[in-house]
Amino acid sequence: MQIPCSKEELLMLEKIAFAARKLGMPTYVIGGFVRDKIIGRKTKDIDIVCLGDGIQLAEEVATMYKHKPVVAVFKNFGTAQLKVDEFEIEFVGARKESYRAESRNPDVEAGTLEDDQNRRDLTINALAISLNKDNYGTLVDPFDGLSDIEHMILRTPLAPDQTFIDDPLRMMRTIRFAAQLHYTILPETITSITRNAERIDIISKERILDELNKIIACKKPSIGFELLYTTKLLHRIFPQMVDLAGAEYIDGRGHKDNFYHTLQVLDNICHDTDDLYLRWAAILHDIAKPATKQFEPGHGWTFHGHEWVGAQMVPGIFKMLKLPLNEKMKYVQKLVLLHLRPISLTKEDITDSAIRRLLFDAGEDIDDLMTLCNADITSKNANKVKKFKENFALVQERMKEVEEADEMRNWQPPITGEIIMETFNLSPSKLVGEIKVAVREAILDGIIKNDYDEAFAYMILKAKEYNLNPM
Ligand code: ATP
Ligand code: MG
Repeated sequence: MQIPCSKEELLMLEKIAFAARKLGMPTYVIGGFVRDKIIGRKTKDIDIVCLGDGIQLAEEVATMYKHKPVVAVFKNFGTAQLKVDEFEIEFVGARKESYRAESRNPDVEAGTLEDDQNRRDLTINALAISLNKDNYGTLVDPFDGLSDIEHMILRTPLAPDQTFIDDPLRMMRTIRFAAQLHYTILPETITSITRNAERIDIISKERILDELNKIIACKKPSIGFELLYTTKLLHRIFPQMVDLAGAEYIDGRGHKDNFYHTLQVLDNICHDTDDLYLRWAAILHDIAKPATKQFEPGHGWTFHGHEWVGAQMVPGIFKMLKLPLNEKMKYVQKLVLLHLRPISLTKEDITDSAIRRLLFDAGEDIDDLMTLCNADITSKNANKVKKFKENFALVQERMKEVEEADEMRNWQPPITGEIIMETFNLSPSKLVGEIKVAVREAILDGIIKNDYDEAFAYMILKAKEYNLNPM
């Protein structure tokens, strides 16, 4: 079969074929590379399967390059990896796997190409192309994977229960491919995922997160999340998100379904950013709505303080999902905490001081916060959305003006603790902090200009209240 490879890729495959012939090992290129080439997606991973020792083949291939690339050997898995230019070539001996119920790690023994294809997760991932002399370039497709690509269908090579029970990560992978490729999962495959959802518990959190992040990186992640939800995988891996689902009614008044609202916000933000953690902020922005929900008679549903409670929930969720507990977490926390602020500005007469405060609190993340808020404007009522977006544009306009006039971006107050201590001969103390905050607040409130001399004069004035005079 002709697959559209570059000259560089063809040369690489020729070299592998040559090495394999020298060792007398039937060899095939298989899996993701074949799939992505047929679909026309970019790929830099090449998976090679041989009937023999994959490590030996990798070492033979390495000798054929002038610069002798390093072979990374994973003895436990019987695999080896070679980096050539920007390509990663992975070599493995064809294997047969048998699984035990309580573990994801199978008993592995050498097998035929067919055995190896049987243990793949999806028919579209089981396609192989021969690198052997007698049938070089022939597609070996025992499960009609090519036809599934044509019809955009995801299906397991064996009965789905067996494929998923053997390795439950495959359930996440199947949903991830549905989200990435916009393919349809066969109904019986979906039913099987639902039936086996609780088996996901034996998979490590890191692997689950890897797949989740790949879903979040898609153009339209809601496809993946809806499937995770309907199959109940989401209930096991991220129950707080499931809690967002549903709408309660009292006295005929309901609130919006915050799960679908969150998915809408997530899809919206994907038009504006590829940043994984800004996308996570979209997922988590309303996460505390279930915890803060109240019905106030005569008024309706409220979610008071959900931004604050949500920010408090972020570290626990990051820890549970094995997301990094570092500045990325702080960033998401900050966006969750501030996500209502720009919108609330549209509801009042916007004062310069309110805008200055927002600029100060958001600091260098102000643009990301505005991106999140813009994505958060969802309503079935097109007029409402239009009105909101107009008001929002107004806030952005005013923000620009205030920023230009006051140079507030990444602003640091002109009077530091050191200046206060030096001026009044003080050592570090609460008093120094109080004077510093007073000067900062005066600038944010517009009582004085954002200017060193005015701030210095205000500091002297303020210090007088504490009977302090400059040295
Ligand atoms: P991507 O590289 O986009 O993450 P991929 O399908 O290429 O997707 P890899 O992890 O590169 O995934 O794996 C290469 C191939 O190995 C797959 O195409 C598939 O044939 C097989 N494979 C990977 N993981 C599994 C699994 N959990 N169960 C069965 N087969 C798998
Ligand atoms: Mg791959």
